[in-house]
Amino acid sequence: MSADYEHLQRAAKDHLWMHFTRHDSYRDADVPIMVRGEGAYLYDAHGKRYLDGLAGLFVSQLGHGREDLAEAAAAQAKELAFMPLWSYAHPSAIELADKIAAYAPGDLNRVFFTSGGGEAVETAWKLAKNYFKLTGRPMKHKVISRAIAYHGTTQGALSITGLPLLKQQFEPLVPSTFRVPNTNIYRAPQHGDDPEAFGRWAADQIAVAIENEGPDTVAAVFLEPVQNAGGCFPPPPGYFQRVREICDEYDVLLVSDEVICAFGRLGHMFGAERYGYQPDIITCAKGITSGYAPLGAMIASERLMEPFLADGEMFAHGYTFGGHPVSTAVALANLRAFEEEKVLENVRSNEATFRSTLERLKDLPIVGDVRGDGYFYGIELVKDKATKETFDDDESERLLRGFLSGALFEAGLYCRADDRGDPVVQLSPPLICGQEEIDFIAATLREVLTEAGKRADLMPHSSGEEPAPGARAAWGAEKN
Ligand code: PLP
Repeated sequence: MSADYEHLQRAAKDHLWMHFTRHDSYRDADVPIMVRGEGAYLYDAHGKRYLDGLAGLFVSQLGHGREDLAEAAAAQAKELAFMPLWSYAHPSAIELADKIAAYAPGDLNRVFFTSGGGEAVETAWKLAKNYFKLTGRPMKHKVISRAIAYHGTTQGALSITGLPLLKQQFEPLVPSTFRVPNTNIYRAPQHGDDPEAFGRWAADQIAVAIENEGPDTVAAVFLEPVQNAGGCFPPPPGYFQRVREICDEYDVLLVSDEVICAFGRLGHMFGAERYGYQPDIITCAKGITSGYAPLGAMIASERLMEPFLADGEMFAHGYTFGGHPVSTAVALANLRAFEEEKVLENVRSNEATFRSTLERLKDLPIVGDVRGDGYFYGIELVKDKATKETFDDDESERLLRGFLSGALFEAGLYCRADDRGDPVVQLSPPLICGQEEIDFIAATLREVLTEAGKRADLMPHSSGEEPAPGARAAWGAEKN
């Protein structure tokens, strides 16, 4: 072991506070240190190669080690390293706003830059509240979002998040947010065999929540095109069209939280485009720069900015680093590469084989469901395929943390085993991947999930007298 490596390990353990990390798991084990990336691959400090099956964290759309993006950052830093967007502007932010407005659906032409996704979500909620105050409906301030959905960690975004275990230690959070069911058709409480009826039912729960809260108090509904947490829930057919009708009927803003789904993840610039609906606001981040610099954005419709254009008005909101020149320059280079290299086309042309390759894993007893769209999939693991019986907390802990995460990584696949809802393996590789990488993902999963299945077999099954699938997904109305 080199002295450098030893130093990094020691310093990581002594000083680096990692995000969402159980530090005790590294008490007797090395912190995995990644040092380099090239294309779809990451390399650790020992030189071992991993396929980046999660695009870092749903970020690295164009993969790693691109000189054009690194050079765009360097050139901008040399020219103008910093200038805020507080009453001033700089060329790359202006050009990027122009480009994003052109890509965004309908009249989503107003782009407010942030440093990341959570800030974009905060911004959208604040805009919704402020807009209704300026337009004579000052009571409209509440937000509706979906069970198990993740929208960020700042207190507003966390309040909108539907994961009670991530929230309780920070209560009280920002009040006035409410949860409705998500579109997990695999565990649908009704209409599970009829996607359209299920979609209509799930969308109608938003209307029920608005009625329950009082339409004149509800400002916005925050939905991801494909919900990530819980393991990739695509919208059933007609879902977003019905949500749009409901939002129009009750004068509630539809916020499409595309922090993961925008910029090619689903084969289109925006998820709303893929599923054919018109949001009032899109929040985005991550893939906008493919991770070569941090950036987020809230894209709002013309009508939402209009009241702020009146004499003396302003949106009293901003971030020092929102729209940082280096980040916006990188985003421009990133989007240029998307066009020149036909990145969206690559996703669309490989999507069907990606899906069918993963679906073959369904012959494994532990694989209950494979779902997702584009280059974004979740594989739900079950104890019993016939009854969809899931693992209890302790079993899930042993299976995911005790075995799967480590075994997949060991086998050279960086991805995520997650149990924020029911246990799933999440996949979201760089958009430059092709059949070779897809085959590697599937072969690695087959090997590791086969072993996981053997371990799961040793776990006790329910007697069958229990009410079926103990999905830990909360369908109920969890508040805040
Ligand atoms: N919204 C969604 C849908 C996300 O997936 C995330 C992060 O994964 C966020 C918001 C928060 O983004 P950030 O971590 O950049 O603050």
